[in-house]
Amino acid sequence: MRAQVTLDARVIKQGVARIMAEAIDELVEAYAAVLPAPAEGARGVLRGFSAWLKQQVGLEEEAPPDPLPLPMVWDRDISAELATNERCPPPLQDGWWSRTLEQIDGLTFHHTLSHSPHATARNYVRKGGGRPSLPYTLWVTETGEILKCGALTAGCWHDHTGHENTHLSVGLAGSLHQVEPSEAQLDAAAKVAAWAVRHPGMNVALDTVNGHGDYYSTVCPGWGSAASGNWRPRLYRRIRQRLGVAET
Ligand SMILES: [Zn+2]
Repeated sequence: MRAQVTLDARVIKQGVARIMAEAIDELVEAYAAVLPAPAEGARGVLRGFSAWLKQQVGLEEEAPPDPLPLPMVWDRDISAELATNERCPPPLQDGWWSRTLEQIDGLTFHHTLSHSPHATARNYVRKGGGRPSLPYTLWVTETGEILKCGALTAGCWHDHTGHENTHLSVGLAGSLHQVEPSEAQLDAAAKVAAWAVRHPGMNVALDTVNGHGDYYSTVCPGWGSAASGNWRPRLYRRIRQRLGVAET
């Protein structure tokens, strides 16, 4: 059966008015590019006409876009569910050090050797005299779910560039020096990195997206291991794709 289309006169008028108003707006823009200040009067008249046209057929003037909201890359925030420790030895006696979003200038990937952020948090609050909580800001599960484990502004020790470091700590679930990360997990990790680089409030750059092993002698995050398929290039290819950056 053929679908019935009702042509509403008002809808047609609105369509025509929209096309005309858009053409006028474009003309005004083109004008602005080639003509100096004396053309301002003519531009004003055209803008006024475009606005009047839209008003006649009940088209709203398009509102300017909202300032970019701080986008959230995580699927769930589990920070309230994780174990915490109020009695850490110095320098963590007051919890993780606090930094501003603007101060965040890097991202460090880790593997977590575990599939339970809850169990890992319980271990860390006892480890080495105690840590404030789970030392990963974001946790990426095997199936590619992104979990927020702490405030972005809480500087986790586990970045291993020292206390008061300025990196986001991202834990990829599993023993990724032995087991290859799933496609979904790599995609989600790339999504986190691209989000961090693009985030308007932070100062993370593609070349400050690194792995724990880039700072410290460790196999973490496992991407340089033959046993798990040397997966670093696969991750960075995805990150570059998401950022629209060519291979270097
Ligand atoms: Zn690590």
